[in-house]
Amino acid sequence: MTVDVIATAASNTEFSSASTLRQRTLKTSIGCTGIGLHSGVKVTMTLHPAEPDTGIRFRRTDIPGQGAIVPALWSNIGDTRMNSCLVNDAGVQVGTVEHLMSALAGMGIDNCLIDINGAEVPVMDGSAAPFLFLIECAGVVEQAPARRAIRVLKRISVSDGDKTATLTPSTGFSIHFEIDFASKAIAQQEMFVALDKGSFKAEVARARTFGFEQEVTMLRSAGLARGGSLDNAVVIDSTGTKVLNDDGLRYVDEFVRHKVLDAVGDLYLAGAAIIGHFHGVRSGHALNNALLRALFADSSAWAWSTVSTADAFAADMTAPRMVVSG
Ligand SMILES: [Zn+2]
Repeated sequence: MTVDVIATAASNTEFSSASTLRQRTLKTSIGCTGIGLHSGVKVTMTLHPAEPDTGIRFRRTDIPGQGAIVPALWSNIGDTRMNSCLVNDAGVQVGTVEHLMSALAGMGIDNCLIDINGAEVPVMDGSAAPFLFLIECAGVVEQAPARRAIRVLKRISVSDGDKTATLTPSTGFSIHFEIDFASKAIAQQEMFVALDKGSFKAEVARARTFGFEQEVTMLRSAGLARGGSLDNAVVIDSTGTKVLNDDGLRYVDEFVRHKVLDAVGDLYLAGAAIIGHFHGVRSGHALNNALLRALFADSSAWAWSTVSTADAFAADMTAPRMVVSG
C-alpha cells in the first residue's frame, strides 16, 4: 500500500538528505452512510480522488448548480456552537466536518472531493477512526506537485475567558492540549503529541466525542444532538463521576485526546497542513477558528512553504509523548 511505502521511505531519512513531500489524494472513491450527530438525519457520503491544488471540498449532491460546492476553509466556518459548520456564499451548509477533516489531516490527504447528500457529515462512532479506515481502504496516492503547507512564523494567540489557543513556530506539527472539567470523570487531562509516523492513528483517531447526560435535553431543545447516543458519544452521568457507556473508555484520557482530534480537524481548515506548534487550553471549535482568523489577519505571521521530510521528521517530531494523563 502506498501509505506503507511512504512511511518506510520517511524512516530512512537519517541516511539521505531531506526531500520534498508530494501532494496526496485517494486512489479510488469510497463511501459510507450514517446519521448526523446534531440533525439525526441519515446521509450518504462519498470521498473521491481530486486534482492537485484543489484542496478539500464538499459537494452537496442534493443541491443543484455551483452553490453545491463548499470548500473546507476556515473562512467558510459559520456556526461553532457544538461543531464546526461550513457555509458557502450561497448559504449552503455542511456541518460537523471536524472529525472527517481530522482524518484527512492525519492521513496527509491534500486533495479530496466529498459528495454528501445532506447538511451534516455522518457522526459514525463519534471519532475519526471510521474515516481513517475509509481512506486506508481507498488507498492513498502521491501526486506530482509538491505538498504546500502554512509555516507559522511568529506566535499568535487568542483567548476567551479562561480558554486560550496559541500557534508558535516549530518544525513539523505538534499539539499540546489541556482541559480542566469540574466533572470527576474528566477532571484535568493534558496531552502532547507530535503528529507524524502514524501517531494520529495510534494515539488520537479512536477518541470519541463526549457530552453530559444533563446537557442532552438542553441541546435537543436547541435542535442539536438529535442523532447523539451511546453509539457515537461518551456520555457522563448527571453526577459527573461515571461514564454511561457499557464498554467504558477507549483510552483512559479519551476526553483530551478527542479535543486534540477536534483541533487537528479544525486547524486543517487552514487549507493546508500547518507547520507549527498548537497549544490549546480548554479551547474548542470557536476559539480554534478564531486562531486561524487571527493568523491569516497578520501577513507577517505565516508563509506558504513546501514540506520536506526534515519538517515532518525533525528531532522534536519523533514518537508521540504524553506529559500527563489523568
Ligand atoms: Zn469532536
